Amino acid sequence: MRYSILSVLGHALAGNRRWTPAWRDAAPQPHYDVVIVGGGGHGLATAYYLAKVHGVRRVAVVEKGYIGGGNVGRNTTIIRSNYLLPGNIPFYEWSLKLWEGLEQDINYNAMVSQRGVLNLYHSDAQRDAFVRRGNAMRLHGVDAELLDVAAIRRLAPFLDFDNARFPIRGGLLQRRGGTVRHDAVAWGYARAADRLGVDIVQNCEVTGIRCDHGRVAGVETTRGFIGAGRVGLACAGNSSRVAAMAGLRLPIESHVLQAFVSEALKPVIPCVITFGAGHFYVSQSDKGGLVFGGDIDGYNSYAQRGNLPTVEDVCEGGMALMPFIGRVRLLRSWGGIMDMSMDGSPIIDRTPVDGLYLNAGWCYGGFKATPASGWCFAHLLARDEPHPVATAYRLDRFAAGRLVDEKGQGPHPNRH
Ligand SMILES: Cc1cc2nc3c(=O)[nH]c(=O)nc-3n(C[C@H](O)[C@H](O)[C@H](O)COP(=O)(O)OP(=O)(O)OC[C@H]3O[C@@H](n4cnc5c(N)ncnc54)[C@H](O)[C@@H]3O)c2cc1C
Repeated sequence: MRYSILSVLGHALAGNRRWTPAWRDAAPQPHYDVVIVGGGGHGLATAYYLAKVHGVRRVAVVEKGYIGGGNVGRNTTIIRSNYLLPGNIPFYEWSLKLWEGLEQDINYNAMVSQRGVLNLYHSDAQRDAFVRRGNAMRLHGVDAELLDVAAIRRLAPFLDFDNARFPIRGGLLQRRGGTVRHDAVAWGYARAADRLGVDIVQNCEVTGIRCDHGRVAGVETTRGFIGAGRVGLACAGNSSRVAAMAGLRLPIESHVLQAFVSEALKPVIPCVITFGAGHFYVSQSDKGGLVFGGDIDGYNSYAQRGNLPTVEDVCEGGMALMPFIGRVRLLRSWGGIMDMSMDGSPIIDRTPVDGLYLNAGWCYGGFKATPASGWCFAHLLARDEPHPVATAYRLDRFAAGRLVDEKGQGPHPNRH
């Protein structure tokens, strides 16, 4: 079924009783050309581009839970391409370009909203760093604007500009950044991949990776063995556990990241705003809730919930930036498992096991990367060579010293 204004009207007149499921609940087949482990945004996007761009139709996405239950449905929905390093900018800009055409491409309203992303700075040194970042972006053809305090006052007059400790000195704005409805991305890619013949197998946990003579043969699952010519891992926070099934030890730690949503307010926050003197960022959803978050909890965990010290830390950041938030009631919070890499950048590469490929290390920035990650992972799986915008994301870069350390934090995953 193709979604359009006419189909919406037609179904409304028929009492909305004839809608069909957006994708089939497929049973696993004995063998596929490619099996993707993990039905998050990256796994589903990979399957879609494998079928659409490379014509690989015998593809299965194997998901241990339900579509949208992982980080793709738990994130704070921010997209942007305001990166600094040459290994990152082309990749994230390609992702933003794919976001810009995504809804037409997959015929699904993902609520892509380019409302802008504003990073505030609070000191001269920070301004210099932001100027450098903005210049790097512009050299790569990416939009970036440095705003002075007067311009930010016009945009967001409710901020605490004269905070005694963290006065706002200006900000770097990327107008093409913004937000996208996170679970619509999962549902939209799932539906689009299904229409191209991809099997989406839910409630099917991968429990082992079978190899014959050093080459991958398929995956053991709770619903039986599934043979595969190639296997792609896109398991986000569970990457280390699944890769260990093939004897691999990844340069990744798993950490919890929390998100928060307030009661609905009238429109007040015009764009995504990040605090530069602590870890706090906020946007406002179309339903009116303030969506915000901050740092990871800081200890290794596979739990999808966090602890109170981080709640306090995030709220302190919010109060320092926009004191009115202290009168807003919090509706809910939750956590997701982050696949934190040692340099804060992702991995899209082959593994030492022939036929086994890895997509991981997204830290807390993988939602914005979903389209490009799927595009580049599909390219790698189909052609066995890295896509030109993802050549920096090699698995062996940690041994070879070619780190992509965007934040300059060194080999400390908890600080990225
Ligand atoms: C609170 C929070 C806020 C965030 N905010 C942002 C943001 O604003 N912007 C941004 O760019 N990024 C953000 N992120 C990060 C982003 O959500 C992730 O990097 C990204 O979603 C990870 O890729 P994914 O969608 O494929 O992951 P997931 O949706 O987690 O998909 C991985 C899937 O693998 C499945 N799986 C695991 N093990 C197995 C197994 N053995 N067998 C079968 N399936 C398995 C899991 O069930 C899961 O569904 C945030 C994350 C969180 C938690």
